[in-house]
Amino acid sequence: MHDIVIVGAGPAGLTAAIYGRRAGKSVLILEKENFGGQITHSPKVENYPGFRALSGMELGEKLVDQAMDLGAEIEMDTVVGIRTAGHDRVVVGEAREYPARSVILAAGSHHRTLGLPNEGRLVGHGISYCAICDGAFHAGEDVAVIGGGNSALQEAVMLSEICRSVTVIQNLDRLTGEGSLIADIAERRNVRVIYSTVLERLDGEEKLTSIGLRNTVTGHTETLPIDAVFVAIGQVPENEPFASLCDLDERGYLASGEDCLTRTPGVFAAGDCRQKAIRQVTTATGDGAVAAIAACKYLDSAK
Ligand SMILES: Cc1cc2nc3c(=O)[nH]c(=O)nc-3n(C[C@H](O)[C@H](O)[C@H](O)COP(=O)(O)OP(=O)(O)OC[C@H]3O[C@@H](n4cnc5c(N)ncnc54)[C@H](O)[C@@H]3O)c2cc1C
Repeated sequence: MHDIVIVGAGPAGLTAAIYGRRAGKSVLILEKENFGGQITHSPKVENYPGFRALSGMELGEKLVDQAMDLGAEIEMDTVVGIRTAGHDRVVVGEAREYPARSVILAAGSHHRTLGLPNEGRLVGHGISYCAICDGAFHAGEDVAVIGGGNSALQEAVMLSEICRSVTVIQNLDRLTGEGSLIADIAERRNVRVIYSTVLERLDGEEKLTSIGLRNTVTGHTETLPIDAVFVAIGQVPENEPFASLCDLDERGYLASGEDCLTRTPGVFAAGDCRQKAIRQVTTATGDGAVAAIAACKYLDSAK
């Protein structure tokens, strides 16, 4: 029986482990595939305070080392469910079950991908899912944003400040983001929108060089030379295993506010897996601290 079982060894889960251990609680982290979380896919992180620049892999390793040095245990297992057992909880893994006095859910989310050949290989070499994270690497270049909702339009606005040109590629015949964002886009001289068009091809060996487009109305195809593509077609949380004890919103995120509480006492939500406006390492680590302190309070009040 651990005081705190954490699902997910990303920045949120690892920060929660650091706070939990420093408060003297026994902590077990369960991770299904990637110690360090999704930030380990980023070649360069320049917006995590205290480090001018480091690779996502380095940042992930530093977080893992710190949590383990403080005495957190980490096991590789995929969590497939969670249930209550009296005052305690049982986290159900594929390999075995883990009894817990409290649980912090920090399972993150992943960006919806295009599903095109070459996509995985070109991530960090012209394919990005995060303009806040990677936009600065493409200053002065010609870039495209895929999508027409609020996230895509916000990314286009941000990129237009630093890139030479921004082409928004939308599969529908209209943009679906807020009116104010659509108006903002329309006023920007270096932003153009291509409607009713889908991205069919990513070209490039070492890095992205051009993309293949097809108009869904006319069938017309074209090749557009481009330095980078920012994919903004939504995110996919992975919260189904927790739905027995937590509410999910219509997009699958855990219904939990800045206090990181869920509807079940002793179960907390931290990082990208919960409802929130900004999904970044800084906000995930902030949540990890809040959730761990809330878990410690819960454990101490139950004594
Ligand atoms: C390419 C890329 C570049 C980025 N660049 C930046 C950047 O420069 N700056 C920045 O601030 N942010 C950046 N981000 C975003 C940042 O990585 C996330 O906001 C942050 O990692 C969220 O942390 P988290 O701990 O909430 O979730 P995650 O990092 O997603 O960690 C969740 C962990 O939970 C595990 N997990 C999920 N389900 C289960 C399960 N059922 N059982 C066990 N384990 C499970 C996952 O494998 C994962 O390791 C980038 C993201 C990507 C993909």
